Amino acid sequence: MILDDGGDLTHWMYKKYPNVFKKIRGIVEESVTGVHRLYQLSKAGKLCVPAMNVNDSVTKQKFDNLYCCRESILDGLKRTTDVMFGGKQVVVCGYGEVGKGCCAALKALGAIVYVTEIDPICALQACMDGFRVVKLNEVIRQVDVIITCTGNKNVVTRDQLDRMKNGSIVCNMGHSNTEIDVASLRTTELTWERVRSQVDHIIWPDGKRVILLAEGRLLNLSCSTVPTFVLSITATTQALALIELYNAPEGRYKQDVYLLPKKMGEDTYI
Ligand code: NAD
Repeated sequence: MILDDGGDLTHWMYKKYPNVFKKIRGIVEESVTGVHRLYQLSKAGKLCVPAMNVNDSVTKQKFDNLYCCRESILDGLKRTTDVMFGGKQVVVCGYGEVGKGCCAALKALGAIVYVTEIDPICALQACMDGFRVVKLNEVIRQVDVIITCTGNKNVVTRDQLDRMKNGSIVCNMGHSNTEIDVASLRTTELTWERVRSQVDHIIWPDGKRVILLAEGRLLNLSCSTVPTFVLSITATTQALALIELYNAPEGRYKQDVYLLPKKMGEDTYI
């Protein structure tokens, strides 16, 4: 069996040990990226073992994405900046599970929360939940904090970073380190000042400072704790998926990617 998070082990086995790979009983994959890689293998007809997509299970989406981020966004920001949220203007990019968690936590502390979205249904949800849906460019000059939660890339561009106000904070809760164009800030014209671990002040020639957290990597994984209950739920779900693939009678799972059966997601809580 393979228990993977990101698809690297699966890829390594597939490339380096193709004969062993063929004998594997099943793969359980945790992450968006890893699941994407599995679907690519499957589409190319190269997936020769059944795989379970745990990422899209309800337990993962609600606990890891929604509730975990709702708990940890404030912790990450407080530990790094000690910022007070009451009355602060915050823009959250993306109103998926992670964005919903972040918005709920920020709203509860009295922040004025704006949301950017590219999906009309998620934009409507943000609107119905009482958030102002805007374009980032409309609020870029006035917001105190920008948080990206989209899974997309270049959501905050260099041009937008240039227009942020002095003392504003920018951080990422979404995918890896691609959402904020951090690479564009590594030029001789800007000065980087390490204030403390995971906190950099980026200084523009006119003296303006923008506070970049965790160099654009995931804020909560870099700067805060993650609730142990969430980790426990995730580990249990993975274990149940492994057991299901291992014990499944011949023919139940073919050489394809499967969603975790709903019943098993529910069993995680029992
Ligand atoms: P999701 O698909 O539910 O939500 C993402 C939302 O972003 C979508 O509604 C989409 O329309 C929107 N979006 C995409 N591009 C956009 C753009 N340029 N501007 C504005 N909105 C845009 O996904 P999710 O479950 O919320 O996860 C989002 C990301 O967070 C993923 O990369 C995921 O891997 C990551 N994640 C992080 C943590 C964490 O602990 N920090 C936990 C789980 C997932």
